[in-house]
Amino acid sequence: MQNDPHELNFSKIKTYRECPLLYKYKYIEGKREGLVPASSLGVSIHRTLEEYHRQSNDPSELLSYYDDMWLGAGYASAGEQMEWYLKGKKMLETYAQREYERKTTVDSTEREFIFQEGEWTLRGKIDRIDKHPDGSWEVIDYKTGTDVDLTQPVTDSLQLGIYAVGARRAWHLERGKATFYFVAFDRTQSAPFEAFDEQKILETFIKTGEKIVAQDFTPNTANCANCPFNTRCESACLS
Ligand code: SF4
Repeated sequence: MQNDPHELNFSKIKTYRECPLLYKYKYIEGKREGLVPASSLGVSIHRTLEEYHRQSNDPSELLSYYDDMWLGAGYASAGEQMEWYLKGKKMLETYAQREYERKTTVDSTEREFIFQEGEWTLRGKIDRIDKHPDGSWEVIDYKTGTDVDLTQPVTDSLQLGIYAVGARRAWHLERGKATFYFVAFDRTQSAPFEAFDEQKILETFIKTGEKIVAQDFTPNTANCANCPFNTRCESACLS
């Protein structure tokens, strides 16, 4: 697995901030996180929505993509798989209802941005980019999980922040907003691009990047209980 320490994205920064040793496992040693039902369903929903917006945009056809895009990995039994399949189906039925009211045009899906900040390369992939009738833009990240805090201001989100910065820096989209689409809750939360503190976001990325370059992989055991590597990590603290 090739890993350029000067190339940063949100997933790398999030992983390092959770636990530097976890970063080492995933990005230096190339160890893989197994799928669990929630992450597997997330992949199925993202794939379905990507194909739907790429090929159709007719809400009556949305569910027809679900079976083709369904990923069966990560479930302990056929019964468990069916239970999660039905959860996803319900989310997509609600998404399709919302689609009938959509006034925007979907410009692209799974679009990658990349820009330089000094010696650093910052990149990211955005689930969906919409154009509004007034010419403004909306970059959208789907959240399919239920373990989200809907009371947090979206301007505090490093992920949405780097997407807003990326849209402006890489694509020169000046007028617009960045949105979390909480698919499981049928809710969206947005903030205009300029509401995100670009300097603070880039500083967070670069300061974390500097620690990665310095190979500081000191474990942070505060998150061991929820860590996907806790059964194979010699520094795990589960007491
Ligand atoms: S088990 Fe704990 S110390 Fe090990 S990688 Fe995960 S969070 Fe870090």
